[in-house]
Amino acid sequence: MRNPDVLVVGGGPGGAAAGYWLALRGLSVLIAEKKEYPREKACGDGLTPRAIKQLVDMGFDFDGHHRIVGLRAYTGEVRLEMPWPEHSVYPNWGAVVRRADLDMQVAALAQKQGAVVATGAEAFPMIEAGDLTSVILRRKGEEDETVEPKYVVIADGSLSRFGRKLGMTRRKDYPFGLAVRGYWESPNSDDGYLESQLDVRDRNGKSMPGYGWVFPLGDGEINIGAGVVSSFKGWKGLNTSHLLDAYVESLGDHWGLTETSMVRAPIGGKLPMALSVGPRFGRNWVAVGDSIGAVNPFNGEGIDYAYETGRMAARYIADAIATGNPAVLQGYTQELDDIFADYQRVARRFVMVIGQPAMMKTFTYLGMRSRPLMEWALKVMANLLEPEERGLSERIYGTIERIVKVTPDPLIK
Ligand SMILES: Cc1cc2nc3c(=O)[nH]c(=O)nc-3n(C[C@H](O)[C@H](O)[C@H](O)COP(=O)(O)OP(=O)(O)OC[C@H]3O[C@@H](n4cnc5c(N)ncnc54)[C@H](O)[C@@H]3O)c2cc1C
Repeated sequence: MRNPDVLVVGGGPGGAAAGYWLALRGLSVLIAEKKEYPREKACGDGLTPRAIKQLVDMGFDFDGHHRIVGLRAYTGEVRLEMPWPEHSVYPNWGAVVRRADLDMQVAALAQKQGAVVATGAEAFPMIEAGDLTSVILRRKGEEDETVEPKYVVIADGSLSRFGRKLGMTRRKDYPFGLAVRGYWESPNSDDGYLESQLDVRDRNGKSMPGYGWVFPLGDGEINIGAGVVSSFKGWKGLNTSHLLDAYVESLGDHWGLTETSMVRAPIGGKLPMALSVGPRFGRNWVAVGDSIGAVNPFNGEGIDYAYETGRMAARYIADAIATGNPAVLQGYTQELDDIFADYQRVARRFVMVIGQPAMMKTFTYLGMRSRPLMEWALKVMANLLEPEERGLSERIYGTIERIVKVTPDPLIK
């Protein structure tokens, strides 16, 4: 497709969702994905109820995929199992789906709506005087193709080379995450809980900055990962592979791991969070997902926010094309702020606070001994509060803010 209405750069969650919703609105869409499906992506493969809703809205078929009833949180040996909360909009279940399968299937849903998906095609922006004029598509062994779409969706992930060329930058005073994951065989792969460990210790029992997770895939394998947020004391010198090794070693008998259980060596990636990257749109482009740092700092979730921002961007681009007025794109960044800015601000402050070992200890000590407090924390961290709970969330935000205020941290703004 030479001159589609919209060219989408990247066929991950953000790009596929944007492509799906644009095509549904009758626009001609070309999604350029530089890799071939099924493609590997460093990810925990965990889907919360928010992500499930987006996938259900796009007609994703969960038959044969592993469903998740809630979260099992550990701090040291203290353990708490919590079901997903009931919610008026979101389902009370999650899932774990390998990204290699998930992304291929969501791209196929976009294709079913009429989007053209070009794999093995890397996109490069052509820029004149700071303005995006066209896009070059490069395929191995083929001549470059120049595409001149009306609009471009940037959905090229956490490194976002395309976006950087257009002047997008990440706020260095905002937190970001680093994480690594691998796959292991386990006799308990059909466990119905996501498991997280808030206190990872090395062989000598010394606390390490970071967290670990086990997300069961239900097909004989489990996804084990570990990560750290840049606000954690000691994160700079931390090797996430060593963190993962320590975490895997510390796992109890439940997962039944042996020396030979690892089926795929770990790979890692970055998690740009708290809407830390901007600008989020230009005269003829809009950026979504990891490229704008949409990961939720509370829980490292980014798949849902890529779907949500992709869907939102599609609405504004369709509007800009229908009205012939590119200025409506301003509404995209405004709506993002209206919906997420307060939440992200508190999440940002929260990770700054728990980045301090003493504060982390206090939070986990108090939290893990109170089921209501942890159930509430799960709701907040997975962004599952009801609109009428806003008041409650405001009070909670206020409490966190008071704690933050007494916590000296030059990074907190
Ligand atoms: C170790 C780890 C664990 C994680 N675990 C979870 C989890 O359990 N749950 C969760 O919700 N989130 C998790 N995340 C975050 C989640 O993976 C991301 O937030 C999500 O993938 C963002 O989607 P995206 O579409 O913005 O970017 P991506 O998924 O990165 O997709 C971008 C796509 O663009 C393609 N691309 C890049 N450049 C170009 C180009 N120039 N031309 C064409 N194509 C291009 C890439 O090949 C890629 O397919 C995790 C992240 C990491 C690193």
